[in-house]
Amino acid sequence: MYLYGGIEASGTRFACAVAEQPDEIIEKASFPTTMPQETLMRSIEFFERFPLKALGIASFGPLDVNPSSPTYGYIMETPKPGWARTDLLGTLRRALNVPLALDTDANAAALAEYFYGAGRGADSLVYLTVGTGINCGVFVRGQFINHPEVGHMFIRRHPKDKFPGHCPYHADCLEGMASGPALNGRWGTQDQLAREHSALEIEAYYLAQAVSTIRYLLAPKLVILGGGVMHWAQQALPVIRQEVLKLFNGYISNLRTLEAVERFVILPALGDNAGICGALELGMRSFWSTSNYGY
Ligand code: ZN
Repeated sequence: MYLYGGIEASGTRFACAVAEQPDEIIEKASFPTTMPQETLMRSIEFFERFPLKALGIASFGPLDVNPSSPTYGYIMETPKPGWARTDLLGTLRRALNVPLALDTDANAAALAEYFYGAGRGADSLVYLTVGTGINCGVFVRGQFINHPEVGHMFIRRHPKDKFPGHCPYHADCLEGMASGPALNGRWGTQDQLAREHSALEIEAYYLAQAVSTIRYLLAPKLVILGGGVMHWAQQALPVIRQEVLKLFNGYISNLRTLEAVERFVILPALGDNAGICGALELGMRSFWSTSNYGY
């Protein structure tokens, strides 16, 4: 029995898994993201225990995903110590010698939700991930639209919000106001944030603007909200939906009721498994595309 492998690489943890089908994980391991050599060695040791036929990687970025680029598969300039210019794809390919595919963590999560989760049956979706940064995976009719820089969209400031903003380039863009570091910068610890009533209102105000702009620009059937911040913001979901309804103000004809917005803005059905499931799906696709069976 040969297995597909998947790696979900975030700035804080690496998760490795093997499966026969992307949504049926057989074994999984996870460890902290330390320096590249040590972290990649632990990943390689995990996969060497299995008869692997392909590997998919869903990684934090910035990531070079252009196959014709000389730095394809590299993590590019990142403030994460030791990780800038790391050859993620090449290191794993040399060690494991199987077909490999890689994409951003947001794209992989979008792919997983599309095939196995909340997006089944929808012809298009956007997966918005709100964590250390804000990114999105856009999947429309079987195709990704690569690298929309959604995190840096400009947003209207909440009238009560005096926080200057966290983005080193724009200060108060979406990421500068609504990402994990922005929340910590404004309210201190996550505990305090959970107690702070206005935190919910302000975060929802910004995420609702992102959701409505995404709808105007890409017209997906669904927007899925995931990422570390959304663990806390689950309580914020009803507030975000109310705010989205208010922002549309009847303009989008099929999103004029709260019930319609509740079907449009949702949480990931795969929860925390979306990233790893997407990585396994990438691995499975790379196997089929290199073995000439078609897909
Ligand atoms: Zn920015």
